[in-house]
Amino acid sequence: MVTYADIILPVPLQGLFTYTLPDHLASQAQAGCRVIVPFGNKRTATGIIARIHQTPPADPSIVVKEVVEMVDAHPVILPHQLSLWQWMADYYLCSIGEVFKAAVPGKLKERPTPDPSRKGGESSGFKEDDTAPAFPSLTGGVRGGSLPLLSPAQSTAIDSIRMAWREHAVCLLHGVTSSGKTEIYMHLIAEAISQGQQVLYLLPEIVLTSQLTDRLQTVFGERLGVYHSKFTDKVRAEVWQRQLTSAPYDIIVGVRSSVFLPFQRLGLVIVDEEHEVNFKQQDPAPRYHARNVAIMMAARAGARVLLGTATPSFESYYNARTGKYGLVRLSERFGQVALPEVEIVDTKELRRKRLMRGVFSPPLLERMNQSLSAGQQVILFQNLRGYAPHITCHVCGWVPRCPHCDVSLVKHAADGRMTCHYCGWSTSIPEQCPNCGDTQLRSHGYGTERIEDEVRKVFPEARVARMDMDTTRTRRAYEDIIKRFARGETDILVGTQMVTKGLDFENVSVVGILSADTLLNQSDFRAYERSFQMLSQVAGRAGRRSQRGHVLLQTMSAHLPLLQQVVTDDFEAMYREQMAERRNFAYPPFTRLIFVYVRHRHQADVELLAREAALRLRQVLGTRVLGPDEPPVARIAGQYLRRMMLKLEPQLPLGRVKAMLRQVRQELLTIKTFTSAHIYFDVDPL
Ligand code: ADP
Ligand code: ZN
Ligand code: ZN
Repeated sequence: MVTYADIILPVPLQGLFTYTLPDHLASQAQAGCRVIVPFGNKRTATGIIARIHQTPPADPSIVVKEVVEMVDAHPVILPHQLSLWQWMADYYLCSIGEVFKAAVPGKLKERPTPDPSRKGGESSGFKEDDTAPAFPSLTGGVRGGSLPLLSPAQSTAIDSIRMAWREHAVCLLHGVTSSGKTEIYMHLIAEAISQGQQVLYLLPEIVLTSQLTDRLQTVFGERLGVYHSKFTDKVRAEVWQRQLTSAPYDIIVGVRSSVFLPFQRLGLVIVDEEHEVNFKQQDPAPRYHARNVAIMMAARAGARVLLGTATPSFESYYNARTGKYGLVRLSERFGQVALPEVEIVDTKELRRKRLMRGVFSPPLLERMNQSLSAGQQVILFQNLRGYAPHITCHVCGWVPRCPHCDVSLVKHAADGRMTCHYCGWSTSIPEQCPNCGDTQLRSHGYGTERIEDEVRKVFPEARVARMDMDTTRTRRAYEDIIKRFARGETDILVGTQMVTKGLDFENVSVVGILSADTLLNQSDFRAYERSFQMLSQVAGRAGRRSQRGHVLLQTMSAHLPLLQQVVTDDFEAMYREQMAERRNFAYPPFTRLIFVYVRHRHQADVELLAREAALRLRQVLGTRVLGPDEPPVARIAGQYLRRMMLKLEPQLPLGRVKAMLRQVRQELLTIKTFTSAHIYFDVDPL
């Protein structure tokens, strides 16, 4: 009897690939083991066995090729992981091969070089002395430091969380910034591992700092593994392999992709900053939300889930309010520290009265001066990196734009270049206008680089640092900026959203938000939800330990009710008001959204394809299909994009809709003009 194996290959094609297993391999093969198979012209690929069976392909004319080699004697992907991959492929409308590609570190997908130690049923290739290095330590990390005593509010919260878990697998902890959520997590982690369970502690990229890992390592020592996208592939592969051994890390603290790690006895998942948009992968597929995948994963393992945040996402809060999740609140800061005082600064009015000097309003300058002369620190937040978002010729109005994308180029003064923030293309800063030859090109708007410049001019004595993607290309650089600020070697820290989360500095008395307007003016239906989250989070950096902090929020729209809600930290009011709008306009959480994207090199073809796609989708889904429209950036890296929005009422059978979407895609891509097009889906887009 012939033995067949259905193999997952890291390609965007749908489905599994069937091969035969020669007898000498069939006896050792198991689902979850890697194999080498012929794929494409004279090439081989590393795949994962999904299934072993004896059913020949339905079409007898198909020539089934043979598996060349087994890589593993034991599975590197556990059965529940394979089932989670399949769920992800179905739910997020991609191929299981794309999930495989995203899930597994590159090293585990390469054809391994022969290694004698691998033979004889050893667990595949992990060596004890080769464990993943942790983050470089900030404090030197004294091991065995005892878990501080919880405050009464924290103890009550833990009791309520335990109660909530009796009825709900998922509990939302809504606790204001600096209320001691991290201490609560640590308590629950200790409890879970003492019962022999494993814990996944999920964090957004920018929150996973050595500040936090040091704090955890002090308590949990060697039982803690860190999984970060800034680690090398080799290190990530080692963490993966270790999780398959009989001595895995009990606790993994990691970013989005750590939901893919193998866990053998998962008991608790913590998703910190659950509202954070970076949990959703935008590109490439799978366009998954790590919080939601973690919840699915926990359900399979029978594990409990704790979602923590000071500013819940509407999706989670809605689930908590409607009884799907448990809900626990923590409304005081730890140690009776007052929440910061937020002051709205009306820059429109100040400009009218000619009282603004550059980007700094008089009240902000005054607070900064006070803070600096008292030996305290300041954080300045601006939501854009670079020097200026664009430059123009003041004579003819020319603006340099990216030749490959529909956006203007951002001026980066430090490296003397104009850069595209979408495709990375850059050119030197022009000295004169190519249109009219004028040499007076003006910078418009302020990025963090320009703010830093201004700060140095206004506060020549102050020690200034900048934290954004440009200054933190390496983990080292990133950690250095944080370390220096924590040690008090920097007075003023200027930064993008990188400064808004996860950092706990005791000496910050003033936070300046230079302009809330770019946040508020986004056309997205989530603009206010996001603005509230971002503004509250950045405000939360002020006055975390002893004295009350001050936040100065500069804006041209000082009278927006949303800003009053930030001032009073009134999440409820914001939620109520925004939910009324969501209901009126049938947006999530009252509906589900799916974006259908079409992409092509030629504008005429993309438009044709978009129209055809919309037509076919409407035949089935009717008025639930909106568009096609141009997305905010309608051409990226030379590819034109169009988008349709599907608004689906919750009762609609999602499985059928998705099957139909796959079918429409397939039909469209077989039409001759569109064979070089791309059609892809973004399920639950953010
Ligand atoms: P959150 O995660 O809610 O922002 P943290 O857990 O970081 O808050 O706590 C804020 C500050 O209070 C930290 O400096 C932390 O060390 C301190 N803290 C929290 N709980 C306790 C406790 N039970 N005992 C001593 N210090 C605590
Ligand atoms: Zn000009
Ligand atoms: Zn570009």
